[in-house]
Amino acid sequence: MLAEILTIGDELLTGNTVDSNSAYIAQKLTEKGYWVKRKTTVGDDVEEIKTVVREILDRKPEILIISGGLGPTHDDVTMLAIAEALNLELELNENALKRIEEFYKDLYKKGLIDDPTLNEARKKMAYLPKGAELLENTVGAAPGAYIKLENTKIFVLPGMPREMKAMLENEVLPRIGEKKFIQKKLLAEITDESKLAPILSETLQRFNVKIHSSPKGFGKYIGVIIFGENEETIEKAKKFMEEKGIQFEEGW
Ligand code: ATP
Ligand code: MG
Repeated sequence: MLAEILTIGDELLTGNTVDSNSAYIAQKLTEKGYWVKRKTTVGDDVEEIKTVVREILDRKPEILIISGGLGPTHDDVTMLAIAEALNLELELNENALKRIEEFYKDLYKKGLIDDPTLNEARKKMAYLPKGAELLENTVGAAPGAYIKLENTKIFVLPGMPREMKAMLENEVLPRIGEKKFIQKKLLAEITDESKLAPILSETLQRFNVKIHSSPKGFGKYIGVIIFGENEETIEKAKKFMEEKGIQFEEGW
């Protein structure tokens, strides 16, 4: 169950925007039981995006989630680059066009914009790679796309965190299977990660869990996250570590 994440935007490379989208997507995929193998970030550049999409597809992840660059401006080139990477045409999606038209009419009625017409820039957002399924954007204008290849399911989402999150929740997660993992965040009362190490190794051998640990930087605690298929498995692993002398507090 391998997954990769690609975030797109010049602002991510200059550091003007912190790439919170990839962290959010990674968290959701991990909860589903996917192993996020790689996160990549590139600018708004057709050739860069094409190259990196092809590289990712060569690794044949089950899922590829892409975010950013779907808007109306000239620098939003994600759909074009993906289409080129897959040797597909861009095709006008009538449903997307209708949805975009309604979106701007609605903004006009609310007095938020002064022109509701479908100009070229707005129309541009209705073009999806041929054969792609439309992913509804309930928060903004630009629709997303779902492209099912032989080895990989590709989901293309907007960059605005609000829009990305809504689309991920409503359109992506239901298409990628049941929730397989849950996670529990604990604070271990121990100052030295190296003391935790042998206990973690033993726990990992005995139980079907993943464990991440990280120093919290506030004195005597190490943050521990246990990932498991259900509460019961996580509890068993936690109890085992407690028997080995680790004291836990809930949450962080
Ligand atoms: P739209 O413009 O229709 O919302 P878009 O896909 O073109 O969609 P972008 O131009 O990529 O969106 O980004 C819109 C906003 O979202 C920008 O303010 C940008 O900084 C922010 N953003 C983009 N990518 C990320 C990301 N990976 N993490 C956090 N914020 C992001
Ligand atoms: Mg952008």
